[in-house]
Amino acid sequence: MTNISGPMPGENFLHMLNIVIFGPPGSGKGTQSARIVKKYDLIHLSTGDMMREEMKNDTPLGREVRGYIDKGLLVPDEVVLKEIDMHINRHLDKPGFIFDGFPRTIVQARALDQMLEAEGLPISLVISVDVEEEELFKRMMGRGEDSGRSDDAEHIIRRRLEVYKEQTLPLISYYMEQGKIASINGMSPVDQVFDKITRAIDTYLESQTVLPVVD
Ligand code: AMP
Repeated sequence: MTNISGPMPGENFLHMLNIVIFGPPGSGKGTQSARIVKKYDLIHLSTGDMMREEMKNDTPLGREVRGYIDKGLLVPDEVVLKEIDMHINRHLDKPGFIFDGFPRTIVQARALDQMLEAEGLPISLVISVDVEEEELFKRMMGRGEDSGRSDDAEHIIRRRLEVYKEQTLPLISYYMEQGKIASINGMSPVDQVFDKITRAIDTYLESQTVLPVVD
């Protein structure tokens, strides 16, 4: 029988595409996310942006997270998860999400899977933007001169890269086991990286296939 009354509880036919954009700090996730959001009409959920907004407004949450961010450390999982859960629930009527800078730990990845599965909206694909460490460092040092970001100073950048390797990189195996990783060479100019990303997303939309490597 055809369901003409709209989604059943736990189903959401409109909301179809959930992307995680994954990569080290300085890999261009934010820049690429802005373009992806525009092309595919997704909701951009950047935990870094959420935290910076709270810090800017000097809210209790902003004051709580500043100590971690300014040291280049991760904000505790429970704080990030509460924030992201709130944002997901606010936008369940949209065509999809792009998660930028989240998840960053295995605990966060498992929690995200649970949150989305409860809504019948699993992650579609994980776009991993690969950039060599030396280039990351160069980009972030350059960005620090005009980003105004308190965590773009040299010793903090080094710490953020260490934290990435220790706590976030293991997520590659987590999503690899789920067959969801599309690996993109992020060393090329912004437009070319975006072309590769759209190839991965369009392939997914056309055939529900995740291209493991897009070079
Ligand atoms: P980003 O803008 O994504 O590089 O994030 C800037 C900083 O915010 C990070 O260095 C962390 O201190 C904090 N942060 C952002 N997202 C997360 C997350 N998912 N888990 C823990 N801390 C986060």
